[in-house]
Amino acid sequence: MPAREEYLKALGIPYWQAKPGWFANDHSKAQLDKMVMPDEPRTEVVQNTSPLKSETTVLDWPSLRAKVSQCTGCQLHETRTQAVFGEGNEKADWMIIGEAPGYDEDKQGEPFVGRAGLLLNEMLCALGLQREAVFIANILKCRPPNNRNPSAQEALCCEPYLQQQIALVKPKIILSVGRVSAINLLKQPLDTKVGSLRGKVHYYGEQAIPVVVVYHPAYLLRSPREKAKAWQDLLLAKQTLRANL
Ligand code: URA
Repeated sequence: MPAREEYLKALGIPYWQAKPGWFANDHSKAQLDKMVMPDEPRTEVVQNTSPLKSETTVLDWPSLRAKVSQCTGCQLHETRTQAVFGEGNEKADWMIIGEAPGYDEDKQGEPFVGRAGLLLNEMLCALGLQREAVFIANILKCRPPNNRNPSAQEALCCEPYLQQQIALVKPKIILSVGRVSAINLLKQPLDTKVGSLRGKVHYYGEQAIPVVVVYHPAYLLRSPREKAKAWQDLLLAKQTLRANL
């Protein structure tokens, strides 16, 4: 299945294909490929350029680290200082999945080390968890310039790395941090709001790993009033884990 069709299907967006001869010429096809219907969710034409395909058997940690550090699958490798693989307990019950490295993470090579990272540490601490006890990763391993949102193509390209990390850690609960994390992990339409995904338990993959969506700490720094909802979500994740032990 071509990557675009696969991606749209994964997002739950109906896909159609023109019959042979439908297009007058290649130019009109190219125009149509770019066209977005006004009442449809925003989509991008995406091409899967990942060097690691989703169906690849699970690698070991050193091989996966090496692949990520050398990845040139999308244009972000041109502007990164280094890829940020993720870190923590490789057998953690809790897996925390954020969006992408920012300025500090790109420089230091570790996830969530800036201001948002400090708040994430506090959120974990409130749950009685040391940062070292969980595994922290991101949807993207490389920093998008100026911290812009990851494109659909970048997310698709990086997806097999995260799939492999989840398969290796085998977490009992995933905390999906922020909108970009949630829409990519849960294959939601691009315009989905975090507010509509938080407050309930979702499931990831064939193993049906429970996923709880929580507001991103960078958002909570800007909107501290939402911290009460974030706390509810953290408690929901803790209860869900307990129920599954
Ligand atoms: N925000 C994220 O989503 N991930 C990081 O690693 C840092 C900031």
